[in-house]
Amino acid sequence: MPSQPAYTPIEMLIDGAWTRGTSGKADPVINPATGETIGEVPHASPADLDSALAAADKGFKAWSSKTPAARQVVMNKAADLMTERRQHLAEVLTMEMGKPVVEAGTEIDFVIGVTRWCAEEGKRAYGRLIPASVPNTRYIAVREPVGPACAFTAWNFPGSNVIRKVAHGLGAGCSVIIKPSEETPGTAVEIGKCFLEAGLPEGALQIVFGIPDDISRHLIASPITKKLSFTGSVPVGKHLAKLAADTMMRVTMELGGHAPVMVTADADLELAAKLSSTFKYRNAGQVCISPTRFLVDRKVYADFVDAITATSKAMKVGNGLEDGVQMGPLVAERRVEVMESFIQDARDKGATITTGGERLGNQGSFYAPTVIADATDEMALMNDEPFGPVVPISPVDSVDEMIHRANRLTVGLAGYAFTTSGKTAERLSHEVQVGMLGINSTAISLPETPFGGIDESGYGHEGGIEGLDAYQRTRLIVEAR
Ligand code: NAD
Repeated sequence: MPSQPAYTPIEMLIDGAWTRGTSGKADPVINPATGETIGEVPHASPADLDSALAAADKGFKAWSSKTPAARQVVMNKAADLMTERRQHLAEVLTMEMGKPVVEAGTEIDFVIGVTRWCAEEGKRAYGRLIPASVPNTRYIAVREPVGPACAFTAWNFPGSNVIRKVAHGLGAGCSVIIKPSEETPGTAVEIGKCFLEAGLPEGALQIVFGIPDDISRHLIASPITKKLSFTGSVPVGKHLAKLAADTMMRVTMELGGHAPVMVTADADLELAAKLSSTFKYRNAGQVCISPTRFLVDRKVYADFVDAITATSKAMKVGNGLEDGVQMGPLVAERRVEVMESFIQDARDKGATITTGGERLGNQGSFYAPTVIADATDEMALMNDEPFGPVVPISPVDSVDEMIHRANRLTVGLAGYAFTTSGKTAERLSHEVQVGMLGINSTAISLPETPFGGIDESGYGHEGGIEGLDAYQRTRLIVEAR
């Protein structure tokens, strides 16, 4: 057993101070690799949420009145502190979420990268002077931060999901109230500490926890919040978007997907199998852009199934704190049950399980890397986002069929294609209906690039200039001489 690093004591951040809140209620935080309770996450009372709202209002005035250059100094200092504490942050993340500590370190690098990128890009909120058709009058479009924002994030990226809200909001000049997942609160608290120690004004960032629906209803209904950003499932996203309609606040929705992976007959099969299996098992498949529906040309189908079965069998699964572990547990027992039900359904409908198909060990929520050959569109896991370490592969007979089946669902977040034909690549880039398409690449999420889906995968973007734009508004000033 690896020695257990110290987990973060969980408190909420309200008006520049750490607090357990006033509700007296709390939930345990469980390490999914061991099933042990490692901490306790306090719940905010309605009075605590009102304090957070008042603080965000005050914090917005203080933060937005600073120059973008002054904001950049604070944000870069926070990034420096995260860099110093990288290993500790990665260990906390692994203990609460399960992913291998090396992978958690990569996530912390992304957190630092996004913070620095937003700090820098915040300086470029240019408006414009419009050469208008009315004489002796200046028409000026100004860009400004939209106001206090509220944000809600899922457990699968305890660092990245949080920073994508916090750094884009702060970079644009907004204050932020964030409710990270109660299952993975420690990484957010550690990130919050770095911002506070870097000199962030009181109230510019609030971190709260509690019953998700109670918190989001309270914060969204307030006239103080002007922006909502959510990362999570499609049903919860639809629910929150309806609540946001009542105040007409701006909304960004980063919801689930069901990414097709199209492998054509002319593809570099070694590259396709290597990239898609590495990317598939990242975070045990609990990634919204995880490759999830493999549509493989029949001419190379058997070779692809063999290749990905071999890499899947070779995966070292275990406690993410142990050296050499490549895949950790699922976030909680409920996700193991979901995998069991997907695999039973696939078996019942004629699939062949070439490896895996079972839970692993007798503690923690581990599920084996699983390859499902002869998958059909009638199977549940080809329709509902699996969010786990499962690789359903289906043979196809033409590029037409690949495109048709790739576009079959109502979600459209990520997609991947492997082909050596420029003509096919161009066709797929036009016709596959997803927000992000990787062709011979899975590197589709960087601090500087827009990240977001289409259709039921949501709207708006995080990342890139679009990520800051989501926290800004345009006003027109007309000035006659
Ligand atoms: P879930 O929809 O119950 O929860 C997802 C997250 O949303 C959780 O962190 C939860 O705290 C939060 N949440 C739930 N209700 C909320 C509310 N009313 N207000 C504010 N936040 C709320 O699903 P789950 O069982 O935790 O995860 C399974 C499914 O969620 C997956 O199948 C996947 O589709 C989706 N998911 C998507 C992403 C993503 O990045 N798009 C991330 C995690 C989970």
